[in-house]
Amino acid sequence: MPELPEVEVVRQELSQQLKSSTRIENLIFHRRDLRFPIPILKLKKKLVGQILVKIHRRGKYLLFETPQGFLLSHLGMSGTWRVQSIKNPERKKHDHVEVHLNTGVHLIFNDPRRFGICDFAEDIVDHPRLKGLGPEPWADEFSVAELLKKFRGTNRNIKVALMDPKVVVGVGNIYASEILFLTGLSPLRKSHRVRPEELQNLVRNTRLILEEAIRRGGSTLKDFYRSDGAQGDFQNAHQVYDREGEDCIRCKKTIRRKVMVGRSTFWCSNCQK
Ligand SMILES: [Zn+2]
Repeated sequence: MPELPEVEVVRQELSQQLKSSTRIENLIFHRRDLRFPIPILKLKKKLVGQILVKIHRRGKYLLFETPQGFLLSHLGMSGTWRVQSIKNPERKKHDHVEVHLNTGVHLIFNDPRRFGICDFAEDIVDHPRLKGLGPEPWADEFSVAELLKKFRGTNRNIKVALMDPKVVVGVGNIYASEILFLTGLSPLRKSHRVRPEELQNLVRNTRLILEEAIRRGGSTLKDFYRSDGAQGDFQNAHQVYDREGEDCIRCKKTIRRKVMVGRSTFWCSNCQK
């Protein structure tokens, strides 16, 4: 499943298509629903003919901004956006949404498993899907003070807390394992028992790991491809994730795996306390 770095990579690559007066010439929908019904008439009425000002990311949502509102997109489990020139039109199986730009470029959303979302948003803050989201990893509100407040009186372990989008958006399963390894924190630690100085490192390392993943083009997973079909290579930098039974790169002890809330967690019980 694409996580924040993968979505950010897609955002950056799609954004390269935008010039100062790029307009949405047409919107084509090959189905009426993905995970939810698509408000096709509204999207067409509001967005066709408008300048595509900017592409934003909020959590794992992409927001295509026009002066009349946003096209909101979520990749779900297997969604991809690709850039296609009008000169080489190619219709692929599972192409569901096409954004035609006046520059001769088509942005095409493909999603075999159809867990993706395509919706209209009046603005970024108030859309029902965006309203409840916690801070971005680089926001000032992702801080030790806020974490202490959020963890007080809870009994979750730190791995589960770190993956809660109300705590911070966009930290999925792979990155949570990597962040905790870098911080030396066991995924089994109760979040309210993590000391402030450790939380400070956790905040810093969350940003570091996500930044590195974005730089490397994301992790290539079964279903994730970049908008140009290229693959990221962050998976080659994983230090614990998917390394059960292998040696810890720091201490040579064996990497362990445990299923927590349905997801595999990898850690070194010697380096992470
Ligand atoms: Zn170790």
